[in-house]
Amino acid sequence: MARPATAVIKLSAIKQNYLYAKSLATPAKAIATIKANAYGHGAIQVANELSDVADAFAVACIEEAKELRDAGIEQPILLLEGFFTADELTYISEYNLWCVVHSQYQIDAIKQSNVQKPINVWLKMDTGMHRLGFLPKQYANAWQQLEKVAQVNSLTHMTHFSSADDLSSLRTQQQTELFLETVGDLPGDISIANSSAVLSKAMPDRVQWVRPGIMLYGSSPIDTPEMAKSLAPAMTFKAKVISERIIEAGECVGYNALWEADKPSKIGTVSIGYADGYPRHAGTGTPVLVNGQKSQLLGRVAMDMIMIDLSMFEDQDCIGYEVEFWGDNIPVNEIAQCADTIGYTLLCGISRRVNKQYV
Ligand code: PLP
Repeated sequence: MARPATAVIKLSAIKQNYLYAKSLATPAKAIATIKANAYGHGAIQVANELSDVADAFAVACIEEAKELRDAGIEQPILLLEGFFTADELTYISEYNLWCVVHSQYQIDAIKQSNVQKPINVWLKMDTGMHRLGFLPKQYANAWQQLEKVAQVNSLTHMTHFSSADDLSSLRTQQQTELFLETVGDLPGDISIANSSAVLSKAMPDRVQWVRPGIMLYGSSPIDTPEMAKSLAPAMTFKAKVISERIIEAGECVGYNALWEADKPSKIGTVSIGYADGYPRHAGTGTPVLVNGQKSQLLGRVAMDMIMIDLSMFEDQDCIGYEVEFWGDNIPVNEIAQCADTIGYTLLCGISRRVNKQYV
């Protein structure tokens, strides 16, 4: 018997969202970003679902790429963090991974390596994010060093936007201009654009590869109703009522007694908590859907359980009623806002205790 905490994952929604991203980016190709276990949705399942349509996949690190290759995924896989130790290069070459190169120590390692097959390098430029990459003034030198070496098969230019989810910011435009100006007429494909930039079409014509992530899972990082409507939520996170009671006016609920009843109140306990990935910082008032009706969280989220309002079901036995936390009816971004975070963290944070059901 499985615990009722479940993430129902609609793989067809992910495919639909990927094809939508591709349609916005065309003629550029789209790399499906499936790092962090496909943002909590299951990297192997998502890669298999997209295998007949995806141009390529992106993951953060070698372990994530290995998992996909071991599962028989044959598409190109881009390693967004590249590699750290020289021996990882052997694997990158053997398994045909596309490798982000962002630092001189990686260039040195490539030059000193004796890889069997030359590798495909995605040279990263730091155009303002200041996380990974060569600064524009260092970029041409990095390019020239790699252009000459036998261990490199191809070179692609890439950068990453810091603020594409903020439509009022000028940074995306500034980063794009700096990137294109620095690349100049160096040969090679160019890659830019996360979900925000794909959705808002903030990509230059010259782009050959975009890298959508969060939008594949149906969550828009730009929270306008139109953008949200264009995506199909892929994960519905739910559990069941496992206990119910009526408490008197003046009694309190949960750790630290944060919610107090102002009248006799029917409350229910649901088998979900922060150890499952439900956000601890969601508080009283966070919406839930119980047996198809809107309700709300009461008090503090515990490790394994939350309490909710069942006053709308006064005369009913609610044990076993299904409770949705986000998904088909409640946008994950709405819950993220209640917990002072972003949809990404909620999706990535689904723990392994939660049963994943693929439909
Ligand atoms: N490209 C890079 C380099 C990233 O780090 C990420 C995610 O963090 C993405 C693309 C995908 O971003 P998003 O999930 O916002 O679409």
